[in-house]
Amino acid sequence: MHEYSIAYDIYATARRAALENRADHVTRVHVDVGELAMVNPEQVRFLFEVIIEEDPLFQGAKLACRHIEARVQCPCGYEGAEKYVCPRCGRLPDIVAGREIMVTNIEIEVNES
Ligand SMILES: [Zn+2]
Repeated sequence: MHEYSIAYDIYATARRAALENRADHVTRVHVDVGELAMVNPEQVRFLFEVIIEEDPLFQGAKLACRHIEARVQCPCGYEGAEKYVCPRCGRLPDIVAGREIMVTNIEIEVNES
């Protein structure tokens, strides 16, 4: 299942970052989801919550998804949001943003002792 492996990747990435930062608790994970990434953010969020139930480090953590719009560049110099046909020359432009699913930030708590 596509969304499950994405949710698991997000969890694994956030967990690695949390351990590197000696977190005692992760409260929120921020993710950029491109409009061309072909995932349903609601489903990813739901699966993320299922996965973290097993992990006390993530108890109650929230997944915050940010929608990233597609951006393209064409060899003719056009840059913009027309994904399929360049409005200037009619060619197929290169997609430079909007396909990514990326953990951008995590919010953690560290108990100093
Ligand atoms: Zn063009």
